[in-house]
Amino acid sequence: MNYAQPKELCQLKEILATWEGPCRFVAGCTDFLAQRNGKPWREENLISLTELQALRQLRAQEGALYIGALCTHGQIAAEDLIRSRLPALAAACEGVGSQQIRNRGTIGGSVANASPAGDMYPVLLLLDAQAMVLDAAGEERFLGIEQLILDKGGTALQNKQVLLGFRIPLPGPYGKSAFGKLGERRVVTIAKLSLAVSAHVQEGIMSGARVVLGAAAPKAFLVEEGAQALNGQPYARRFSCGLGEILSQIIQQRISGRASMPYKKEAVKGLAQDVLEKL
Ligand SMILES: Cc1cc2nc3c(=O)[nH]c(=O)nc-3n(C[C@H](O)[C@H](O)[C@H](O)COP(=O)(O)OP(=O)(O)OC[C@H]3O[C@@H](n4cnc5c(N)ncnc54)[C@H](O)[C@@H]3O)c2cc1C
Repeated sequence: MNYAQPKELCQLKEILATWEGPCRFVAGCTDFLAQRNGKPWREENLISLTELQALRQLRAQEGALYIGALCTHGQIAAEDLIRSRLPALAAACEGVGSQQIRNRGTIGGSVANASPAGDMYPVLLLLDAQAMVLDAAGEERFLGIEQLILDKGGTALQNKQVLLGFRIPLPGPYGKSAFGKLGERRVVTIAKLSLAVSAHVQEGIMSGARVVLGAAAPKAFLVEEGAQALNGQPYARRFSCGLGEILSQIIQQRISGRASMPYKKEAVKGLAQDVLEKL
C-alpha cells in the first residue's frame, strides 16, 4: 500500500499525476475508520489530506464565503461570519455528533461520504453552494452541489478527484436561514429527518425562499411547494403558511412504501414549527 500526507497542493497534484490505481483520500477519519470497523485495509493508495493547511482556511471574498474541505464542524460553527450570515450552516455544524466528532470531522469528508442522514449536504444545497474539485490532471473546477451528490446516493467524484472546498454566496442583509433535525436523541444524534429553510425578509415580507428536506430520501431535496408557500407572505405570519402540511404531503408521496413514512409525515410538522421559529 502507498501512503502519502502532502503538505502543499502542488505535492498532492504530483501524487495524483504519478500514482497508478485507485486513490482513497482521508481527512478526520470519523467515517473512514467507523466504516472499516476491524476490516483489513484494502486501499492501494491512501492519501491523508490533514497536513494541507490551505484546505483549513475560511475566507470571505467578492460576496462569497470559501470554506476549505478540511474545515471541521467545530471550526465552522465557531466562525462569527457564519453564525451571523449563514446561521443554518452554523446550526448544522453545531449539531453534528459530539464535541470530539466536531473537532475532527470535516465538511469535505461529510459531503464526500454522502450519507443520506448527513447534515452538511442539505444545508449546502439550501445555500446554493458549489464544490471545488481537483482532478488527476491538476485541473480545479466548480461543480454545483446538487450535481456532486447522485440521486441514488454517493457522489459524482471519479477516481483521483478530491474536494478542495466550497463556495457559498453570502446572502444580503435581509437573508435569514435556519436548520433543524430530529433523531433518536436530542444530542449526538444522527438525523432521521432534517429541514433547512432560508428567505429574504424585507419590510416584513418573505421572498426568495428555499426549503430543503434531508434524511427523508437517499438525497436531500429542494421542496419548491414549500418555498412557494412562504414567498410573498408576511414574516410575522410564517407559522400559518401551511409549510408543515405541505412537507407532510411531500413525504407521503416521496417515501410512500417506507416503514418510516407514517412517523416522518407527522414529525415533519413539528420540525417545521421549530425551524420557522429559529428563522
Ligand atoms: C459518533 C459519530 C457521530 C456522528 N454524528 C454526525 C451527525 O450528527 N451529523 C453528521 O452529518 N455526521 C455525523 N457523523 C459523521 C461524520 O462525522 C461526518 O460525516 C464527518 O464530517 C466526516 O468527515 P471526516 O473528515 O471525518 O471524513 P473521513 O472519515 O476522513 O472521510 C469520509 C469519506 O470521505 C472521503 N473524503 C474525505 N475527505 C475528502 C475530500 N476532501 N475529497 C474527497 N473525498 C474525501 C473519504 O475517502 C471517505 O470515503 C458522525 C460520526 C460519528 C462517528
